[in-house]
Amino acid sequence: MPHVTLNAGARMPLLGFGVFQIPDDQTQQAVEAALEAGYRLLDTAAAYENERAVGRAIAASGIPRDELFITTKLWVQDHGQDSAPRAFDRSLDRLGLDHLDLYLIHQPFGDYYGAWRAMEKLHKDGRARAIGVSNFYPDRLADLITHNEIVPAVNQIETHVFFQRTADQKLMREHGVQHESWGPLAQSGQGLFDNPVLVDIARAHDKTVAQIALRWLIQREVVAIPKSVRPERMAENLDLFGFQLSDDEMARIATLDTGASRAFDHHDPEGVKWLGSTRFDT
Ligand code: NDP
Repeated sequence: MPHVTLNAGARMPLLGFGVFQIPDDQTQQAVEAALEAGYRLLDTAAAYENERAVGRAIAASGIPRDELFITTKLWVQDHGQDSAPRAFDRSLDRLGLDHLDLYLIHQPFGDYYGAWRAMEKLHKDGRARAIGVSNFYPDRLADLITHNEIVPAVNQIETHVFFQRTADQKLMREHGVQHESWGPLAQSGQGLFDNPVLVDIARAHDKTVAQIALRWLIQREVVAIPKSVRPERMAENLDLFGFQLSDDEMARIATLDTGASRAFDHHDPEGVKWLGSTRFDT
């Protein structure tokens, strides 16, 4: 599995496994299957309310801790310099771990500056090997970088063939922030699997559309964390390293960019209010 090296020095697999929307009672089984398939990067969040099940799967796997890369995220209700370390401790407790590989601010709302300062300390204390953010559009990312000591190691943002984020990636590269994709398969929407360009390229390589969509991301050095509850798809989504997309194929896929999200608009005031008032059992 190829890795990227984060600005904090930690090595992160280029491909991992996401557990958003896997119900708590199915998560342990799914994560055990993903680890069995070969995934070593796991992506959860306090807001997914399935950290305990992820922790049980990690413990059951017997895989040495230093071979795993575990990410979780801080939810908005726990932002602030005092609340964030307590939320971090609760996440670690649920995961059954003594440190994280990557701790992310899940959303750029509320007192995320206070949270970031607390996370800088967690990183310096060695409890989070890397710290980063998620859902930060370029303006907020530039502001956070400008007014704080530590540059986020990662920005995890919606990125797929229909929302390519090339300008975001350019800014991240300039500052040494690793681009990580959520929704790498467009959350299986937007006609991804029937898209004629992707179907054509998939046929040419004797691969599936999912594999083309994921290979396109990792070929751009974007870390991808597809989710599936089906072992055959987990294996399919990992099998990306024996082929390469040509420059011409990359250029054809570049034409699919719509430049917009169909999942969530982080600039819509109603959406901002909704996320800010949504509470989870964190
Ligand atoms: P994905 O783009 O990974 O799509 C998941 C969907 O695709 C599921 O319906 C899955 O179905 C299906 N699927 C997976 N593999 C295949 C395949 N090979 N062929 C056909 N269908 C397939 O969406 P996610 O939203 O799950 O994003 C991935 C991860 O990103 C999340 O799990 C989470 O960890 C993270 N995330 C972070 C967010 C943030 O705000 N930071 C927001 C959203 C996600 P099935 O399970 O039935 O196989």
